[in-house]
Amino acid sequence: MQKGLNSRTGRDVVVVGAGIIGVCTAYALQRQGMSVRLVDRKGPCAGASFGNSGAVVDGSSVPNAMPGLWKTVPKMLLDPTGPLVLRWKYLPEIAPWLFRFLMEGRKDKVRHNATSLKALTDTAAADWEELAQDAGVQDLIRPVGWLKVYETEAGFRDTVAARMLMREVGTDFDVLTAPEIHDLEPNLAPLFSRGIFQKQARFVINPEDMVLRLAEAFRQEGGEIILSDIRSLTAKPGKVTLNGSAGTLTAEAAVLAAGAWSERLARQLGDRIPLETERGYHLMFPEQAAGLLTRPVVYGEKSFVLSPMKMGIRLGSQVEFAGLEGEADFRRVRKLVPLARKMLPALAGDEQSVWLGYRPSLPDSLPVISPSTRHGNVVYAFGHQHLGLTLGPTSARLVCDLLMGAEPPIPLWPYRANRFT
Ligand SMILES: Cc1cc2nc3c(=O)[nH]c(=O)nc-3n(C[C@H](O)[C@H](O)[C@H](O)COP(=O)(O)OP(=O)(O)OC[C@H]3O[C@@H](n4cnc5c(N)ncnc54)[C@H](O)[C@@H]3O)c2cc1C
Repeated sequence: MQKGLNSRTGRDVVVVGAGIIGVCTAYALQRQGMSVRLVDRKGPCAGASFGNSGAVVDGSSVPNAMPGLWKTVPKMLLDPTGPLVLRWKYLPEIAPWLFRFLMEGRKDKVRHNATSLKALTDTAAADWEELAQDAGVQDLIRPVGWLKVYETEAGFRDTVAARMLMREVGTDFDVLTAPEIHDLEPNLAPLFSRGIFQKQARFVINPEDMVLRLAEAFRQEGGEIILSDIRSLTAKPGKVTLNGSAGTLTAEAAVLAAGAWSERLARQLGDRIPLETERGYHLMFPEQAAGLLTRPVVYGEKSFVLSPMKMGIRLGSQVEFAGLEGEADFRRVRKLVPLARKMLPALAGDEQSVWLGYRPSLPDSLPVISPSTRHGNVVYAFGHQHLGLTLGPTSARLVCDLLMGAEPPIPLWPYRANRFT
């Protein structure tokens, strides 16, 4: 049992942040008989959970920092359609985080991070199925897998370290040939000679609707949703006080699930957590295009995704380092449109909308799922990087265990708040 927690702690809980992590957590805590208030400054699904690519990548294990990454970064940065953008004026601010991130690419660290990621994602599909059935949202999730395709042998060869790591830690995947890719996705251009298919993955066909419907299920069962921008947080045993734009809230316990904005509040409780944002864009094509694909497909060499959302094909873009305040630059995602049409030649119609989201990321690619270092009645659940949709229900279950003093199904020390101090 974690220090400071017991089965009485947190019968009355405030959850800060109504993205996928906060909503799943609020729903799960309420299911355990707790009295739960869910607070968001803008309402449910105002953050990264609104516009992601919809993949629930069961068994995902490859961290973002891999051995030799530092050698490939310059090439990635110079490629105008490459997978990484760094806004140069943001470099001084992000440099310490980038240094830590690159250090996580050391072999011993990579193995640890992969094993710890896999331990979390191992039950992602099963946890989603259970939640979807319980909350009546099965119509929004499909068992169609997650496909990455490669145009060149060199592109596929670049994945050798990732594939070896996946084998080592037991991530299930198949390597596909061109005809096998065609069988799965006949509308893809016949350009792709190799594929990597994770068939256990699920696909959420409308991530925004998923969060909104889970929030509504929470509300229908008696949960309260409050609009408030939480600005300060203090805690003592049995009492957490949260001050925000809608006044003061007190509760026996709190969960901090404010995505990329969580760091400032954790710092007020004495925790210094290196949380950055890996920004990502999306661009929507018209609804008629949605039938062209069955599942999200990643263009391997460029690391962008085409997802057949209910409301049209979504082009989900790569990673931009420019912080929470840097203005959006939609030119980058628009540059990918010709590549998307090359990948899927029948993709017609103009851009319907564009969006920028903030992935909350730590250098080791692992979230924080942990009591605050000093206050056992505040639990952190943030930093889910590229896997927040995947890990919503799983993280929620672990937060419940922490607040109820139950033995979690996996050891939680790899996700502790003070691991970088
Ligand atoms: C382009 C893109 C594609 C992606 N694709 C996938 C994918 O296919 N699969 C996958 O698993 N993941 C994917 N992700 C990652 C995933 O979207 C995120 O990890 C996830 O949404 C994070 O959820 P969250 O609830 O932690 O944060 P968010 O969804 O950002 O929610 C945080 C909430 O906290 C609120 N908040 C912040 N500060 C305060 C405050 N002070 N007071 C009150 N409320 C506050 C915000 O308004 C927001 O609603 C993708 C991300 C991007 C950007």
